[in-house]
Amino acid sequence: MTARIIDGKAVAERLRGQLAARIAALPFRPGLRVVRVGDDPASGVYVRNKDRAAAAAGFDSATIHLPADTRESDLLMLVEDLNIDPAVDGILVQLPLPPQIRPEMVIAAIDPAKDVDGFHPVNAGRLAAQQPGLVPCTPKGVMHLLREAGARLAGARAVVLGRSQIVGRPMAQLLLAADCTVTIAHSRTRDLPAECRRAEILVAAVGRAEMVRGEWIGEGAVVIDVGINHNGAGKLVGDVAFDAAAERAAAINPVPGGVGPMTIACLLENTLEAALARRGAH
Ligand code: NDP
Repeated sequence: MTARIIDGKAVAERLRGQLAARIAALPFRPGLRVVRVGDDPASGVYVRNKDRAAAAAGFDSATIHLPADTRESDLLMLVEDLNIDPAVDGILVQLPLPPQIRPEMVIAAIDPAKDVDGFHPVNAGRLAAQQPGLVPCTPKGVMHLLREAGARLAGARAVVLGRSQIVGRPMAQLLLAADCTVTIAHSRTRDLPAECRRAEILVAAVGRAEMVRGEWIGEGAVVIDVGINHNGAGKLVGDVAFDAAAERAAAINPVPGGVGPMTIACLLENTLEAALARRGAH
């Protein structure tokens, strides 16, 4: 079998186009504020991409860049200002933060109604309790890709590799909500290859370059590779050995060009949802 390639860039572009059309029809522009602290170079790229995509889709978007030695209390005060600013619908504080700032304190300070990253414990709880809320962007993007790939989810055996708060856990919740039979695997899982081979849907989010080998993939599986890693040669690769996996999978996304663009598009989708909910138009 040679896999169908899931083009995350194209799906993300379509989603951004749909969002732009919905925003053009609104009597207001949803407001997004991205806060960056310090000069982490990877964060710089992410923040620029988010800002550019938001502006292009018609959002009122701005980045607030604070120095690396910003005190936690000052960042918390800024978050409070954004919480009460009626023009702001979505707040995103780019991680990682410098060591003097505790990320969990900052996340907890964001108004859950404006928490477009979906990391606030209230939103994590709502997802687990099957209540409406803001869902983390990366797993939300994966669900779009699975639907786009025509994956049959109800009743399917889904394996999520990784149990982080921002990808693995919410991913498992979303797959469960879509009626998959979900296994969450992690660094303490016994016989990872066997767990993966059973998967009809495999989502890899471990952060280990090409750890998932071709022979770990079941024939006809739909594989979503969330990982973004540099391999020994400095090349950007996913968590899955793409060429070998594509021999067995029914569908798989490349890295780059898979989940990354979807994460940004879903951030915009969350901001629009937050704006509509806050303004009572939901
Ligand atoms: P974390 O490091 O927070 O979590 C990694 C998870 O993988 C942990 O649950 C860990 O298990 C598990 N793991 C690590 N090593 C192994 C192993 N050898 N065998 C089995 N499980 C293992 O990472 P994130 O969830 O934040 O990110 C995962 C990947 O996704 C990264 O490559 C990251 O760059 C990428 N990413 C991509 C995004 C995108 O937009 N495309 C957005 C966010 C992340 P344990 O809990 O036991 O330690």
